[in-house]
Amino acid sequence: MSAQPRVHILFSHDEIKATVRRLAAEIKKDYQARDPLLIGILTGSFMFMADLIRLLDFPLEVEFVRLSSYGRGRQSSGKVRVVKGLTSSVKGRDVLIIEDIVDTGLTTSFLLDYLRKKKPASLKLCALTDKPSRRQTPVIIDYLGFTVPDKFLVGYGLDWDEKFRNLPDICYLEVEE
Ligand code: 5GP
Repeated sequence: MSAQPRVHILFSHDEIKATVRRLAAEIKKDYQARDPLLIGILTGSFMFMADLIRLLDFPLEVEFVRLSSYGRGRQSSGKVRVVKGLTSSVKGRDVLIIEDIVDTGLTTSFLLDYLRKKKPASLKLCALTDKPSRRQTPVIIDYLGFTVPDKFLVGYGLDWDEKFRNLPDICYLEVEE
């Protein structure tokens, strides 16, 4: 029989809601008069982005890019490429990247370099979760939700083989052999 993952809650939806509220307050303080461009990384950040921007009651724009570093499953291939690029110009804009998780840091540092070349007025990073124990390249996270242990997370947008994105909580998987 194939291995069946067990799902354990790490952060409940109520804890997530409180953290997203805190992040929204920090972002509002810094960006409310700047018409920022928020760029989400698909697919994992869609739920975080949706909840976050509903708490940002000032003019802003939203874009998504799709990058690929993970194949199906839990291992990163280590190589990042753009699968779906930007449709609007970032030149001269105040850009805030919205990321679900910073793990090795390779995806985020690739996107920071990619966007920096397009000459935004400013470029910052908001990450819902950070797994610093796995870092391979340094990344500065300007707005951080949770620091998480070295476990594979699912739920609240995060997947395992495209499953579990619809869980309202942030969970970790334990694979039973
Ligand atoms: P990094 O390039 O920092 O290693 O990884 C960034 C991307 O890898 C994230 O946007 C996410 O898609 C994926 N990733 C990293 N860690 C996890 C995890 O624990 N769970 C899930 N579902 N995806 C992860």
